[in-house]
Amino acid sequence: MARESDGEAPALMRLHVVAFGCQMSVADGGEMAGPLLARGFIPVKDSKDADAIVLNTCTVRQHAEDKALSMIGRLRAWKEADPDRVLIVSGCAAERLGGWIRERFPYVDLVVGAKSIEDYPRIVETALAAKFEMLRETREAFAAGGGAPAAPIGWSSPVVAPVTVMRGCNYSCSYCIVPRVRGREAYRPYEAVMAEVRAKAAAGAREILLLGQTVNSWRVVAGDGRQRRFADLLRATAAVDGVARVRFESPHPRFLDDELIAAFAETPAACDHIHMPVQSGSDRVLSRMRRNYTAASFLERIERLRAARPSIEVGTDIIVGFPSETDEDFERTLELVGRLKPATAYTFKYSPREGTEAAERTEDVPAQVKEERLARLNELCDGLTEDAMKARLGRTVEVLDETGGYGRARDAFRVKWETPAEPGRLRKVRITGTMKRTLLGECE
Ligand code: SAH
Ligand code: SF4
Repeated sequence: MARESDGEAPALMRLHVVAFGCQMSVADGGEMAGPLLARGFIPVKDSKDADAIVLNTCTVRQHAEDKALSMIGRLRAWKEADPDRVLIVSGCAAERLGGWIRERFPYVDLVVGAKSIEDYPRIVETALAAKFEMLRETREAFAAGGGAPAAPIGWSSPVVAPVTVMRGCNYSCSYCIVPRVRGREAYRPYEAVMAEVRAKAAAGAREILLLGQTVNSWRVVAGDGRQRRFADLLRATAAVDGVARVRFESPHPRFLDDELIAAFAETPAACDHIHMPVQSGSDRVLSRMRRNYTAASFLERIERLRAARPSIEVGTDIIVGFPSETDEDFERTLELVGRLKPATAYTFKYSPREGTEAAERTEDVPAQVKEERLARLNELCDGLTEDAMKARLGRTVEVLDETGGYGRARDAFRVKWETPAEPGRLRKVRITGTMKRTLLGECE
């Protein structure tokens, strides 16, 4: 079953990974790729060139799900051109719609849902057993040379390394499908997380991104019998040789407690950035969303964090048009944004997800009103981003070179400069201009 290669040694098998959705989905896509990379597949950027494709799907909003499904549809021609090609569909939409995907797209080789993530390597191995000959030959071709090093796949740069610390979610925000498709919270052991951080740092990672759906709820009893909480993990990660920066995503406001705020203040390697979704500025809506905080208590947490680390920039997520949201509620959201002053905001129109509590509600906000609110909110948020970018003109910032002349500042702003380019190096860059969402600068 090896690809034809004019009678010479079997050609290397090429793998393309595409992930929709959040950072966790991107990291999971990389994990899905693991067993194939271990067998000698080499990563390729373009799906057209691939012999195997892993498509990690998202279902958090209808739009994200539709994008993934339409890509599966488009891959029919690619798959039918050579039935030996392998198409694996994984992730959150695969969890929600597994049976339907198998029926609707019978050419998909393997559908594996997000709840089975820990089992991915075994499932992929088993499913591909039928194609084992091809894979064995691939591995031989790889061993004979020619294979590129297995760079972290789907990730922008090997110097930024994701480390998943927990999976699932124990909350029940009324609009959200995540708990259903990802299951309840499970924390990785302290030792396993630290071993992965050390291995990735030794392999050249300078920035570690700790990942989890409510990442800062992580807590475990470690092998030494002591309880470790997320603040301990942050400190321990920052102390690993070679680690210059630590970020995390997504924190839940409930666990942005004094201990974590103190850890931020004491850990210079913790980045000047936190992305914490607020969702709405109206207490009535927040209560219907079952978020368990008020606008004032959210702001109070952030203010404490800013007091402990004045250079911190805040990012957030906001939903407009949640069922029953009135003009008055929406005004509260604008007000909150004005006080929170997020440097970045991801804004979404509410999208009903089947089986969630909010999807049962009939007081839907008309599409036109959602659209208008989104436009107003975006105008406000874009203005705040622009202000934050302009404020950086003339300043010198520390940037981690991720891909050669491009990287992120400690506050997560993207920065581009001409020379020198050396991935993995921390640079001092003087900001001289802006281009869309990117700061332009000169290396000092
Ligand atoms: N775990 C994170 C959020 C994960 S989902 C947290 O609790 O903060 C990512 C974002 O998608 C959410 O912050 C929310 O803004 C948005 N989102 C989730 N469900 C949605 C829905 N049904 N409609 C619109 N946006 C939604
Ligand atoms: Fe969804 Fe809420 Fe859990 Fe975040 S905390 S993943 S929004 S249920």
